[in-house]
Amino acid sequence: MKQGFRVFDTHTHIGTARHTGRRYSADELLRDMDRSGIDRSLVIPFPVVENNREAHEMIGKAVLAHPDRLSGTACLNPFIPEPEFQDELRRCREVYGFCALKLQPQYHGLNPFSERSNFFFEAALENRMAVVCHTGTGLPFSLPSLLMMPARRYPELTIVVAHCGGGIFLHDAMVAASFCPNIVLELSSLMPHHIMEVMAHVAADRLMIGSDLPESVEIEIGKILGLRVSDDEKRWVLDGTANRVFLGPRA
Ligand SMILES: [Zn+2]
Repeated sequence: MKQGFRVFDTHTHIGTARHTGRRYSADELLRDMDRSGIDRSLVIPFPVVENNREAHEMIGKAVLAHPDRLSGTACLNPFIPEPEFQDELRRCREVYGFCALKLQPQYHGLNPFSERSNFFFEAALENRMAVVCHTGTGLPFSLPSLLMMPARRYPELTIVVAHCGGGIFLHDAMVAASFCPNIVLELSSLMPHHIMEVMAHVAADRLMIGSDLPESVEIEIGKILGLRVSDDEKRWVLDGTANRVFLGPRA
């Protein structure tokens, strides 16, 4: 709890990142969550790792040990042989209860607009997972509006626009959310005035907080707590939307 609000951080990573050299363990995450008053975190593998299966195992073990604090997300190269992709995703759900599948367009090179990417979104649906997609850096495939195509094709699927377009494509993310009710926006990296702009067009029960990296956690929470909006809207952004998207149908 932070200032009387429950907090569900929907964007954290543990493991070792090959592209940055960053390392962060489950114990460090839990310690930092306690320090910052975060009740639950969605834990995602770093975008580039040595071994996806091992990254899932590390997160899975942490989720099983702390089911009241952590939820897990799968992230793997979509262009491995399709049966391998399906098997690993199924394993993540059956063994660890993961509730989301992450797309990293800047590293995966998958175009969400193309029908060739259908298998990715269908695999998430089959495993009752939401899709979390990085947006912003990594054009052209990380443009938020490209996600409108799978959102239209799969109305039962929830797609989370991570970083809400990364500031520069904020309006593109708002368009996507305005036209597709199953698109929700995660607000990490936006400035407070950007968030107010988003909130003027998209209801708070379709917005969620994320930190991405531990040094940003306090700022990301403070950003929402400091907004001149109702407590009810803050409750949705800090916790309610994420509970509905990641835990709701499974509860
Ligand atoms: Zn991230």
